[in-house]
Order: sequence, then structure tokens, then C-alpha cells
Amino acid sequence: MRKIQMVDTKNQYLAIKTEVDGAIQEVLDSAAYINGKAVKDFAQNLSTYLGVEHVIPCANGTDALQIAMMALDLKPGDEIITPSFTYIATTEVVALLGLKPVFVDVDPISFCMDIESLKKAITPKTKVIVPVHLYGHAAPMEEIMEIAKANNLFVIEDNAQAIGSDYTFSNGVTKKTGTIGHIGATSFYPSKNLGAFGDGGALCTNDKALADKMTMIANHGQSARYYHDVVGCNSRLDSIQAAILNIKLKKLDAYNSARQLVAKYYSNAFASVKEIITPSSLQYSTHVYHQYTMQLIGVDRDKFIAHLAAKEIPCMIYYPVPGHLQKMFGEQKNTNWNLPITDKLTPCVCSLPVHTEMDEEQLAYIVEGVKSFLN
Ligand SMILES: *Cc1c(COP(=O)(O)O)cnc(C)c1O
Repeated sequence: MRKIQMVDTKNQYLAIKTEVDGAIQEVLDSAAYINGKAVKDFAQNLSTYLGVEHVIPCANGTDALQIAMMALDLKPGDEIITPSFTYIATTEVVALLGLKPVFVDVDPISFCMDIESLKKAITPKTKVIVPVHLYGHAAPMEEIMEIAKANNLFVIEDNAQAIGSDYTFSNGVTKKTGTIGHIGATSFYPSKNLGAFGDGGALCTNDKALADKMTMIANHGQSARYYHDVVGCNSRLDSIQAAILNIKLKKLDAYNSARQLVAKYYSNAFASVKEIITPSSLQYSTHVYHQYTMQLIGVDRDKFIAHLAAKEIPCMIYYPVPGHLQKMFGEQKNTNWNLPITDKLTPCVCSLPVHTEMDEEQLAYIVEGVKSFLN
């Protein structure tokens, strides 16, 4: 049996090696390493795939979130509402920009922003809502957009884990995650559903003014060469990464289907295991399983992980410390946040390997390994 890994970027590469090597060679031959044709093509291809008007490539997903927030004319102390149950990048950039993160709870099924918790968190200082499509499942965007509209707030979707996922509105209209809010931010970190061979990220929006502003911010606030209108940053997707992403974007739907098959295998296998709550999707969202995250009920998680490790089955805790308890957030950490679901999920979540290169032998072995601890 092949060694089991949380992600298998090596075998994913080998399956498309000829095409990728050719595309990299083309960039090398062109010597247009920055802002080359591949970058422009990728922005166009991604905008077509997502059905969004403007795509602005940038250096990584964290930068995408930061640039999005920089484009909204916020003032120090303005409040940004975001789930505590997410990767640190979402909230870190809020603090970095001198804004105030306001943590809300998540829904126990989708692991995404809870609407009641969101409503309660809105104050006169609230400016932005940042829903995270965690693990590949969409946040409840229809309600979030209604609340944002009623309160005159911006919405930035953190789409780093859900690229390719579909959100269906109550009127039947379907949109890709990342294209529903005012801005969508995504990441092409190698392990993401659409992963580069290095760092990468992108912003999307249907708002031309925001697109222009974000393009400018990502390029030193430059309006014309050497004329800098606003304080920006330097955040670029390089041509080699873009060339690779152009190839992988064509495979994204197939990659997501492969992840869904893995998830289905696990969920069928664990359906009658009482100690495991398998992940599921709410009606409005497809699930692209960036992670397959189960909840362990009445199980000693450390012993469970050690048991799997002894069998060379990797698993991960995403994330062991929620945002509101991170040392990074001095003042917020001392706030008495009321996040019962986050507090309940944090000690019991556990993610099994899910990627595009898994075979049945590996899956059967993992299932057996999990069950052997519980029985
Ligand atoms: C990966 C990730 C990011 C950051 O992306 P980078 O490209 O690593 O900077 C942001 N938010 C979430 C939810 C992520 O999973």
C-alpha cells in the first residue's frame, strides 16, 4: 500500500507532469516571470470559471484578505465580525490593520458562521462581515447578505477552503462561493483544493471600483508607474504559479469530485458508528471537502490520534485553539465571548486524510484503523 498522507501533492503532480512541465518551460522561455501572459490568462480563466467579473491575482490568501480589508476605507477600531472557529489568517489581518476582530459562533453542522450569533454581534462600529466557507462548505450567504444590506455592511468571503463549491439561493439561483459577497478572497497554497506549487491567492468582485482599488493596493498603491495614490503592498502571483494554475483549474471539478468520493466512502463506513458524527452539508451548499472533519463523541482524542499514528494513519486537528483564545489577541482574549458551539467543537474535531490521489486500499485501511480503536 502507498504511504498515507494528509495531502499527496507529489502524485497529483505526476498525473499532469507533462502538461505542467511544458507550461513551466514556456514561462522560462518567455522570461516574463512577473505579470506574464500566464497571469493574465489565469485571471481571465478563473473569472470565467467562477462567473465573476473581476479576478485580481495576488501572492497568497492572507494577502487577499488584507487587500480586501484595505480597500474598504476602514478606520482603526472599526469592528470586523468573523468566526472564531477558523484558520488564524482570517482574523490576524483584522488585527494587523488595527481593526477589531469580533468573534461569532458557528453552526454545528456546517461549521460556518451562525446567523443568530452574527445578529447579536452587530454594533454601530461594525463595518464588515467575514464569513469563512470552512472545510469546503459554504456559509449561509443568503442570510448574511440580507443582514449586511440591512445594516450597511461589507461582506468579504474567505473562500480559501471552498473554491468550486456551489451556493444555491432560496429562489433556485446558484453561484460559486467567493462571488456572492462584495469581495471573495482565496488561496492557492499547495494543499488547497486548487493548489499551486508555491504560494498564490486571488480576489474576486463584481464591483469595478473595488476591483480597481484592490489592483492598485496590491501594486504599491500605484495609479500610474511611480505615482502612488494610497498606501498599498506588494502582492503578486508569479507567472510560473499562474501557468500551473491554468492547468489545474481545468481539473478543479474533477479534483473536487474525487474529494467527494473519499468523503462518501468514510461517511458510509462510519454511518452506524455512534462515537463519530460525520460531516454533512446543508441543503444550500455543495461540499468540496477541503477537509473531512468528524466529531468524536465520548472518545479520548489524544489516544485516538496515537492509535492511528501507530498504524501510520495521519490525521489533524483543525484547529486546536480557536481565534478568541489565541495569545495574539491580547484584549479580545480577555473578553468573555459566548461561543458555546466553538468551545464544544474544538476538543472533539478530527480531520482524516482527504485528497485527490487516494485509493480504495488506503481508504479501507483508514476505516479499519479508526474502527479498531472504537470497538
Ligand atoms: C489557507 C487559508 C488562508 C490563507 O491562505 P494563505 O495562502 O496560506 O495565506 C486563509 N483562510 C483560510 C480559511 C485558509 O484555510
